[in-house]
Amino acid sequence: MPNIELLRQLKSQFKDKKITLVAVSKTKPIKDILSIYEAGHKVFGENRVQELVEKHEQLPKDIQWHLIGHLQTNKVKYIAPFIHLIHAVDSEKLLKTINKEAKKNNRVISCLLQMHIAREDTKYGLDEQMLFTILDNIKQKAYENVAICGLMGMATFTDNHTQVQSEFTYLKKLFDTVKNQYFANTDAFNTLSMGMSGDYELAVNCGSNMVRIGSLLFGSRH
Ligand SMILES: *Cc1c(COP(=O)(O)O)cnc(C)c1O
Repeated sequence: MPNIELLRQLKSQFKDKKITLVAVSKTKPIKDILSIYEAGHKVFGENRVQELVEKHEQLPKDIQWHLIGHLQTNKVKYIAPFIHLIHAVDSEKLLKTINKEAKKNNRVISCLLQMHIAREDTKYGLDEQMLFTILDNIKQKAYENVAICGLMGMATFTDNHTQVQSEFTYLKKLFDTVKNQYFANTDAFNTLSMGMSGDYELAVNCGSNMVRIGSLLFGSRH
């Protein structure tokens, strides 16, 4: 059962700080998503393309769908017509494909570049060298149908607050550096997606302005 009371609290808490709440609905049924939607929330995140496409088909069309998980290049075409934000761009090859599919759909697709900030090597993401290579190519206008709006990262899964805090702080610093070096004359680069159910408060304190919250809102996944 979705926790509507908590949804309301989070929304009012985030409103003043201009933080976007992405309600992560992966594995959750349509009726749970609808009850959050009917409480006035329209931003949802999924991590699998097929599930995202099915839910997009079945649910109201004013929902803003975010893809938060790893995206394979051969699946970009399925979400290109409607996706609101792709959080996890982790290679230039993927960016190229998104650009191509966006063009076919006559759209500019908003994307975040996912940085590898965790200690675990299981998590996807770019290192700094790859990041700056991509940014240099973007500067050369290689990808006119994508809009790079910011960065995304996932901290190490640990109880060690100091560790998580240092990873979030690192990402915030990197975000500021990129903004100043590459996007100084525009406010298009404005989104720092970090923080989930277990660490969103820490993330917000470290400068996050987009949090991805699933289990806290929808109940635990089995
Ligand atoms: C599942 C998921 C979340 C939400 O996780 P919770 O701990 O349930 O809040 C956030 N971000 C990504 C990338 C996810 O895959």
